[in-house]
Amino acid sequence: MSSFTILVVEDEDAIRGMLMMVLEQAGFFPIAAIDAEDAQKTLDENPPDLVLLDWMLPGISGAEWARRLKKEPIYREIPIILLTARGEEEDKVRGLEIGADDYMTKPFSPKELVARIRAVLRRSGKIQGQAQINLGDLMLDTEQHRLSIGDKQLEVSPTEFRLMHFFMTHPNKVYTRTQLLDQVWGRSVYIEERTIDVHIRRLRKILEEYGREDLVQTVRGFGYRFSLTD
Ligand code: CA
Repeated sequence: MSSFTILVVEDEDAIRGMLMMVLEQAGFFPIAAIDAEDAQKTLDENPPDLVLLDWMLPGISGAEWARRLKKEPIYREIPIILLTARGEEEDKVRGLEIGADDYMTKPFSPKELVARIRAVLRRSGKIQGQAQINLGDLMLDTEQHRLSIGDKQLEVSPTEFRLMHFFMTHPNKVYTRTQLLDQVWGRSVYIEERTIDVHIRRLRKILEEYGREDLVQTVRGFGYRFSLTD
């Protein structure tokens, strides 16, 4: 399991940018779309775990697109949180009638947004009971977005957190750079394979501070392996 993919559909650049940043910092994997049409394309290429949908969009409105999704058997199960500038109780009821899983009125705090997303993911069964992954003295908590070795908490970037999450759930196997790209970054993201090396280097540097740089091993001519033993 890699981190949760959140499709952010918002036409206003500033708000979309803010949402992307907040989600990334919370350890999610956000994908941006500027309208329903754009979002529909993304939906098929890279199915999200949740859609964060602005109500007022140019062209097909967010509410209308949500209504359509909830009618399609293949999309019905994707949870939707509607975002709106309107605070009317009537709209909230309408939003939930359409089938949205939750509804938030702008402006809202990043903390509240992240909490609501986690609550919806939990309700939809996407966040399982086990938010903690333990491997030896390593502990990774996907809900609190924490990584620790023994009682020491590590400071890692969202990308390094995702990498560690992948490694800790797939230990002792060798992965090529291409496989890591697909698994950790997603297929629709175009980044160079060398970028992986940069992140691995950073991750090793952090682990080195705890004398654990050996956790991530280079397998010459193939890729990387994460292992507690050499
Ligand atoms: Ca809007």
